[in-house]
Amino acid sequence: MTQPAVALKTAGPFTPEQAARLESWTRRYPEPVMGLIEALREIQDWHGEVTLADMDHAAKLFAVTHHRVREIVTFYPFFSHEKSGKFRVAVCRNLSCHLGGAPSVIKRLEEALGVPEGKATADGLFSWEASECLGACDQAPAFAVNDELLGTATPAALDAALGSCRSGKAPVAPASAAPAAPAYPKAWLTKDFAEPALHTLPVFRRFGGYNAWQKARAMSPADITAEVKKSNLRGLGGAGFPVGMKWETVPPKSKRDCPHVVVANADESEPGCFKDRVLMERNPHALIEGLQITARAVDADYVYIFLRGEYARQKRILEAAVAEAKAAGLLDKDVLVMQGANAYISGCDTALLETMEGKKAWPRQPPPFPTGSGLMGWPTVVNNVETLMMVAQVLGVGGDAFAAAGVPKSGGTRCFSVSGHVERPGVYEFPLGTPIEDLLAAAGGMKGGRTLKAVIPGGTSTPVLTAEEAKGLKMDFDSLRGKGSFLGAGGVIFLDDSVDMVDVLHIIERFLWVESCGQCTPCREGSGWATRILERIKGGAVVASDPDNLVRLGENVTGKVICALGDTVGMVAVAMVKKFRADFERRLEKPRG
Ligand code: SF4
Repeated sequence: MTQPAVALKTAGPFTPEQAARLESWTRRYPEPVMGLIEALREIQDWHGEVTLADMDHAAKLFAVTHHRVREIVTFYPFFSHEKSGKFRVAVCRNLSCHLGGAPSVIKRLEEALGVPEGKATADGLFSWEASECLGACDQAPAFAVNDELLGTATPAALDAALGSCRSGKAPVAPASAAPAAPAYPKAWLTKDFAEPALHTLPVFRRFGGYNAWQKARAMSPADITAEVKKSNLRGLGGAGFPVGMKWETVPPKSKRDCPHVVVANADESEPGCFKDRVLMERNPHALIEGLQITARAVDADYVYIFLRGEYARQKRILEAAVAEAKAAGLLDKDVLVMQGANAYISGCDTALLETMEGKKAWPRQPPPFPTGSGLMGWPTVVNNVETLMMVAQVLGVGGDAFAAAGVPKSGGTRCFSVSGHVERPGVYEFPLGTPIEDLLAAAGGMKGGRTLKAVIPGGTSTPVLTAEEAKGLKMDFDSLRGKGSFLGAGGVIFLDDSVDMVDVLHIIERFLWVESCGQCTPCREGSGWATRILERIKGGAVVASDPDNLVRLGENVTGKVICALGDTVGMVAVAMVKKFRADFERRLEKPRG
């Protein structure tokens, strides 16, 4: 095959320190290749790009083919193929940030830097991008410099950040906003959030931290699992699978004599979801405690936190917390924080394992499921951050008490990320089964007192609900399924009556198109077609069959793909057009840009 016309440049130069640092990635994990993507991240940071010669260097160092490295570099959005600026400025353009004014921020940034997206300024200082999601809908429109989330992109904040970069100082993220008081009196994960030093070990312990782990240390693995089963705790990352039942499918070492693994899925990338970011930042020890308990329950040898690439601040906090817990003798198993390379699909558990193995994030078609054959073929439990934190709560209060806080089949509380047209976007913890009106009230109600038009209940991958469908809706897995949608990862986006659902669907389909891994034709092509149809509608060239074409396209994608992203391409389009057809038909009467 003909190679693209990219000039071969010299690898490096790497300083002796950089060469040693790259080499250290081959020794960090049980298999050298697991360090490949993080090593490439460092090269990207040092060189502002990864050249063909850099790829050759990495291939030799990690004993893989050049082809494999090239696949990674061309797959993950973190890597660039031409030199980026020393400071990479990203503004989120996804739904909540769009509603919060992202288009004007992007315009302002382009004017301020005077270069198109992806190009470096003449002095090499800046490049910029409109990001598909930064995990900060509570700060909409959010922006970041070099993966450091810097909060809301007000003109003043943007100017201050650019000024800081010009003076040679990388701006540092402020702490994430947190509710002054928990929304629900029995909140477990967020009840101590008002304490600013909760992330430190002494304060965490003062609030009873690691007591559940001490209790679990005296229990057998089977008893821990039994307690978790009793609690009705379900996976809070999206799938809602019962946690204890998942753990039970891990084969004991008497049957699979190989390493066992536990991974915290901290690749929170679903637009509308940001609670894991806040939880890890405020309460990192709660995650470490949950991981220790889980590792004991499934007899794990290796424990990882797989963190999305954009959470630089959370990485620092987590690593500091791990070091504290280790120094205090609290860890039976070491915990390593591993960073991805900014691909949404890495949040899918099997794609996450591919990323951890130093490959492009192509979801696997189960079976086998990860608990039987996961990382490197070893039995692997992948649980979401909030789920693992809840494991410690289950051990603390007991399975029965935990179950009693929720609804039948869904025990306990959960944290909802609330954003969109509300007065106070943020993380709100409520028992499962809480009416959606309570969530809205906790977030201060609809912004400016406007009327609710629609709700996206679990992140943008979940089918939209009308205001009528949302009335009295109980926020738990089964109630949402009963309405034809999903609780997902608990990212609730409220939309007021000023919103045009053509714009909303366009933002969602464009995101799915950009983030599709490309493995399945219906997903790869369907998301692209949907995006192009919606762009045509928005551009005024709408044709009468467009709404029906979107529905037909959606019905032909769902169920014919490997992972949930592809199903989403179809489901969200069908729900949006069927429920808000008037918005699409209005374009037929009066096309507009
Ligand atoms: Fe990749 Fe889409 Fe197929 Fe999932 S459904 S494996 S994202 S192409």
